Amino acid sequence: GTRVIAIDGPAGTGKSTVSKILADRVGARFLDTGAMYRAATLAVLDAAVPLDDTDAIGERVAHADIRLDVESGGSTTFLDGADVSVAIRTDRVTDAVSAVSAVPAVRTRLVAVQRRAAQGAFVVVEGRDIGTVVFPDADLKVFLTATPEARATRRHKQNLSAGRAGDYADVLASVNRRDHLDSTRAISPLRPADDAVIVETSDLTLEQVVDTLGRLVRD
Ligand code: C5P
Repeated sequence: GTRVIAIDGPAGTGKSTVSKILADRVGARFLDTGAMYRAATLAVLDAAVPLDDTDAIGERVAHADIRLDVESGGSTTFLDGADVSVAIRTDRVTDAVSAVSAVPAVRTRLVAVQRRAAQGAFVVVEGRDIGTVVFPDADLKVFLTATPEARATRRHKQNLSAGRAGDYADVLASVNRRDHLDSTRAISPLRPADDAVIVETSDLTLEQVVDTLGRLVRD
């Protein structure tokens, strides 16, 4: 049957990196649902759909073919057949993704895609609403947290190593803005499930977080 490890939390908690390593370690597939919302956002932006036109956003995303390459570690994202793995990480997409992912029709569509992708498999699914909405019966639910400063520092370092310079203050403002939008939206807001294990990662290394989750999977 389907076995799910749900990992939720705000931006910059190391969620993606940790989830990917954990999936490798326990022999599960990795599903990055943020990449799906980012691909949906790219589809909307490329079609020049205004971000306040929820009907048009829903319509565009309904016709978008969004796939993750789950077999090869889940790090490649396709939109309508094109590899958009790099394009979905740009500021243009990051700045618009919270608006697009607050549209109910977008969520209905992507939740269906996520459930289908997990069917019959052992999966680590990473996102914002995995333990609360997508897989409320997940075998293990983890909610990663960290202070805004720790999260902005991580994002800033990621940006630098991806060759994108930028101001720490801008990254901090962007992280705070996105988390505010994600946790105050009307549909599927970012929050821990009642039965989630909360892991505070500010003072932990990547390895320590992975080890902590590995232990939770074994228990
Ligand atoms: O994790 P990542 O930063 O790639 O997520 C990008 C955005 O996608 C989030 O800020 C959020 O608006 C949206 N998202 C969501 N639900 C998920 C995963 C991501 O709304 N399950």
